[in-house]
Amino acid sequence: MDTYDLITIGAGSGGVAASRRAAAHGARVLIVENDRVGGTCVIRGCVPKKLMMYAAGFRELLREAGGFGWDGLDGRFEMNRWAAAKKAEIDRLEEVYRRLIAGAGVELLKGRAKLAGPQAVEVNGRSFQAGRILIATGAAPARDAISGLDAAMTSNEVLDLRELPASVLVMGGGYIAVEFASILAGLGSRVMLAFRDRLPLRGFDPDLRARLARALEERGLQLACGVPLKALKRASAGFVLERDDGTRFEAAAALNATGRRPVTAGLGLERVGIEVAENGAIPVDADSRTQAVGIWAVGDVTNRRNLTPVAIAEGRAFADTEFGQRPTRVDHRTVATAVFTEPSVGTIGLSEPEALERGPTDVYESEFTPMKTAFAGGTQRTYMKLVVDGRDDRVLGAHMIGPDAPEIIQSLAVALTCGATKRDFDRTLAVHPTAAEEFMLMREPQRRTAA
Ligand SMILES: Cc1cc2nc3c(=O)[nH]c(=O)nc-3n(C[C@H](O)[C@H](O)[C@H](O)COP(=O)(O)OP(=O)(O)OC[C@H]3O[C@@H](n4cnc5c(N)ncnc54)[C@H](O)[C@@H]3O)c2cc1C
Repeated sequence: MDTYDLITIGAGSGGVAASRRAAAHGARVLIVENDRVGGTCVIRGCVPKKLMMYAAGFRELLREAGGFGWDGLDGRFEMNRWAAAKKAEIDRLEEVYRRLIAGAGVELLKGRAKLAGPQAVEVNGRSFQAGRILIATGAAPARDAISGLDAAMTSNEVLDLRELPASVLVMGGGYIAVEFASILAGLGSRVMLAFRDRLPLRGFDPDLRARLARALEERGLQLACGVPLKALKRASAGFVLERDDGTRFEAAAALNATGRRPVTAGLGLERVGIEVAENGAIPVDADSRTQAVGIWAVGDVTNRRNLTPVAIAEGRAFADTEFGQRPTRVDHRTVATAVFTEPSVGTIGLSEPEALERGPTDVYESEFTPMKTAFAGGTQRTYMKLVVDGRDDRVLGAHMIGPDAPEIIQSLAVALTCGATKRDFDRTLAVHPTAAEEFMLMREPQRRTAA
């Protein structure tokens, strides 16, 4: 029987990061993958989605170019050409991942892994032994929120479209739903976005949620919100969505973006005494230990913050702690995140309601039409908010909707991670003329709330 220091199940963001780091610490590592190397992010998530977002962005760019004196830039989007170029890029990236794994000295095995005991894994009928096992099997689209969802595309299939549907019903109000709704509209589909809440992006700052909903409507998307969805049915022209109040919506295509569920079926968790939580996640402690001695889990399968950088950080923290004699934990509180809609959203830290629950809060805001938008005759406004602790002046949250919001928030994340105060923002010199400088120029709080 082959014996390793570590067997990792799943070659996605978390599994690859953990395996490479463990190997760098001198461990003998086997990584098992039953699909393509790179996982959700590289093959059917962040990367192809962003490539699709870039394609969609040219519509607005071409329109704006007219305002700057450019002529004759009108064009037609050929999805087939984009799909071929995207396929080539994802194939290239998968190869890069394979080389990174091999270069680190990690062995890669193709097959579906199943736990055979606390230190044993079965793959393709063979048994492998390991001192430690890491589960990094990720998550997959949930298909049971309402009846009939099975017939709809998920994010997996929408990224492989070769022809743009004339109209699409997007179901869901989370970031994946709003991103694809925005992208498909940018490419030229007529889009309807249906979800149960009154506003999209539950959990984000309410001012971002309201502004995103308004901006999407201004771009021509139809928002069907505030009513629970009931059933999706096939119709002669495509699909019909029925809602609890009896309203019906039709479209040529349907996209199910109602949520994702951890991948644990068939893993043999019962053989090692791991019981999944109600939402299907593998419960772990702050060091990613499962209930079974010798078995750890990282990434989306643990349903903590389901983002690539978080899965990578959890994987590396596990490897540094277990193989590098460097105990490390991931701080899940200050995680910056982006929503790649048009306009885009960037956010880090506490929302205004979350800060108010903790105590006195000062809220600084700025709203303006960016120079480039205004010059091109556009009306889309950029909105920024800083949420500040009213007692010690610490910036607890930074939120933005507008062009380049994800890039701007990424840089601000350093300041917030370091515990910057509003005074630190005030004494930071601006880069002019930029949109980002507005975060340094907010003088008086819009609201000052004593708890
Ligand atoms: C459409 C979409 C867009 C996204 N956009 C972003 C974004 O912009 N930014 C961001 O940070 N995050 C984004 N995410 C989330 C991000 O992709 C995930 O958080 C990240 O990939 C999680 O990594 P992971 O290692 O936990 O799992 P995964 O990357 O999903 O990897 C798990 C791997 O395990 C394999 N596997 C499963 N079971 C077995 C088994 N029994 N045996 C062997 N192999 C197995 C799977 O095939 C898979 O390759 C997006 C996700 C989606 C779906």
